[in-house]
Amino acid sequence: MLERTPLPPLPLLLDRALGAYLGFAIGDALGATVEFMTPREIAHRFAAQGGVHRQIVGGGWLRLPAGQVTDDTTMSLALGDALLRGARLGRPLDTTLIADAFVAWRRGRPVDCGHTCRRGILRYLHHGSLHGEPHDGDAGNGALMRNLPVALATLGDDTAFERVSIAQAHITHHHPLSDAAVLAIGHLLRALLAGAGPAELRTHGERLVTRQPVFRFQPYPGRASAYVVDTVQTVLHHLLAFDDFEAAMLATVNQGEDADTTGALLGMLAGARCGAAALPRPWKRQLLPAVVHAVSDQASALVALALSPPPPAANTAPENATA
Ligand code: MN
Ligand code: MN
Repeated sequence: MLERTPLPPLPLLLDRALGAYLGFAIGDALGATVEFMTPREIAHRFAAQGGVHRQIVGGGWLRLPAGQVTDDTTMSLALGDALLRGARLGRPLDTTLIADAFVAWRRGRPVDCGHTCRRGILRYLHHGSLHGEPHDGDAGNGALMRNLPVALATLGDDTAFERVSIAQAHITHHHPLSDAAVLAIGHLLRALLAGAGPAELRTHGERLVTRQPVFRFQPYPGRASAYVVDTVQTVLHHLLAFDDFEAAMLATVNQGEDADTTGALLGMLAGARCGAAALPRPWKRQLLPAVVHAVSDQASALVALALSPPPPAANTAPENATA
């Protein structure tokens, strides 16, 4: 039986969905400058600005142009395109289309591609399998970082959300902690899109920690690496510690380490909480216009997809589709 989450009026829902995707891109672009740096190195580098990195200026180890985003955003956009394409083709939520989109994304020479993502994409390309065996090394944050489009495309249908989230995750990452993070952060995002307040937000965090105590984030352990536990702790700690988008974002990315990914995920949740209209204007203006257009178009298209009636069933089941 399908669970139904009550959704807010459309204009409010669209503002929150756009806030989530723009907030995600802002965090990616802002954090990329200090990815793999330590908090001490950041404080030293930005001493002239009070020891805080606060502008979208590009650079970093990827030598990004100012306003450009990294794999976090472009891989999310690829996943979202696959979901929209599947609806057009009468193959809704088809995992094979998602895997094909990851292959095409990698062929497009992304500025960055994590090791575990690359390995999973190559496995699909060479063997056609949509998931690897469970693997101890798969507890990175690569599956978590790109799940935003799934949360939007399945709004109102928690069963489909969980099924597609795990299916897309397992194309590259097959680990119980990655799975738990993908579902917990996704459910939290969906609650914020529906208008969850601070108490409900806290309940979501506590529920995750009860199920998987390794995610305990209070007191904050202070690591922000690409290990999915560090990532979730960093994001939840800062989301709950700061009501304000800008304050939460600055505190998050200035933790360094996997700053583009923690920034993106914090931006997604805090952006859903405040809505696009309340995002800091300077950061919105500092993003490349092409990025703003891509995430804006996709956010509204995915919400429209979630709210549209299901298409007639396709005549043939796609090969290799997993349940
Ligand atoms: Mn990245
Ligand atoms: Mn990263």
